[in-house]
Amino acid sequence: MGTRISDRIAAIAESATLAVDAKAKALKAAGRPVIGFGAGEPDFATPDYIVEAAAEAARQPRYHRYTPVAGLPELREAVAAKTLRDSGYAVEPSQVLITNGGKQAVYNAFATLLDPGDEVLLIAPYWTTYPEAIKLAGGTPVEVQTDETTGYLADVEQLEAARTERTKVLLFVSPSNPSGAVYPVEQVEAIGAWAAEHGLWVVTDEIYEHLVYDGHRAVSIATVTASLADRMVVLNGVAKTYAMTGWRVGWLIGPADVVKAASNLQSHATSNVSNVAQVAALAAVSGDLSAVAEMRTAFDRRRRIIVEMLSAIEGVRCPTPGGAFYAYPQVKGLLGRPLRGRTAATSAELANLILDEVEVAVVPGEAFGTPGYLRLSYALSDTDLVEGIGRIQKLVADS
Ligand code: PMP
Repeated sequence: MGTRISDRIAAIAESATLAVDAKAKALKAAGRPVIGFGAGEPDFATPDYIVEAAAEAARQPRYHRYTPVAGLPELREAVAAKTLRDSGYAVEPSQVLITNGGKQAVYNAFATLLDPGDEVLLIAPYWTTYPEAIKLAGGTPVEVQTDETTGYLADVEQLEAARTERTKVLLFVSPSNPSGAVYPVEQVEAIGAWAAEHGLWVVTDEIYEHLVYDGHRAVSIATVTASLADRMVVLNGVAKTYAMTGWRVGWLIGPADVVKAASNLQSHATSNVSNVAQVAALAAVSGDLSAVAEMRTAFDRRRRIIVEMLSAIEGVRCPTPGGAFYAYPQVKGLLGRPLRGRTAATSAELANLILDEVEVAVVPGEAFGTPGYLRLSYALSDTDLVEGIGRIQKLVADS
């Protein structure tokens, strides 16, 4: 008789993001005026024309049925067209697998590519789901550390130093969650050329492609490294661009054999994505980008406010993020010193202290492979943002 929980699943770490969120929500439910900087989702409603398309579909019995596992043919076609429009990357509809959110695309990608012992280069800070998806697939994440001094960008030298003969995949994410870092085009080209030279696969997560500021451009590594097409997997979805986190539609784009194998996996796991949600996604990707342009204006304003307010705190160093909707300050100057009579030794303890003392929820850098940092999402109202960071300012100033 073995253990009750398999070794494989028991090894999955609890999501620190969700732990903070759960604690904040419990406090809120108890009537506390908690301000949450934890959420990784836009605070906007899904645009009306998308909701209307879904409502219309929900009334038609043909959308009450299964779709093909890989998705509605018209959605796969629209995703291929959208990818050409937005990234300049030409793919066939047959290279598109529609998934339950970008998250299932991440799982499918690693489950499909990795054998036990295969290594994946993972640039830290990284989104908390990646190492778990890699390990669950039997792979080994190999971390490449970055910090605020380079704006959280890794260069070819660092990647090369981490490469071994077991390295199969480079995971490339720009704009990044949690750092908001956006790679300049020359660096994307250099990294792509290096990956091609060494026969690596590239998995690129482009879910924040339309949330870039200050003249930054999200350049697709798939487009600039055409020679990698046969070992390139692009992950994306509607969640961030169209404020559709709850609809659960994403996709994976890859070579035909990878898409076929990943579809086989998905056919036994979840089958197709909700038919009605696929129709909503079809309206989203076939439409224009005016809704995300509006959100971008609001996020940009909040980004400037949050960076300025965080930078005004003694002991906090906050680079200006070029994309996504997160600020990722280094907070080592706040560790080991009394704040309202308490002392936090780690950023995890600091996040707890901030929540207890001033009722502001932030996610500690431990969740992203870089202790000593905090992640603050600025996808919340300007008023809450100013109030929340104001409370942290006061906590530090009063101590
Ligand atoms: N990739 C990144 C980098 C993300 O931040 C997220 C959402 N937090 C996702 C993928 C997945 O988003 P979803 O599953 O909601 O489409």
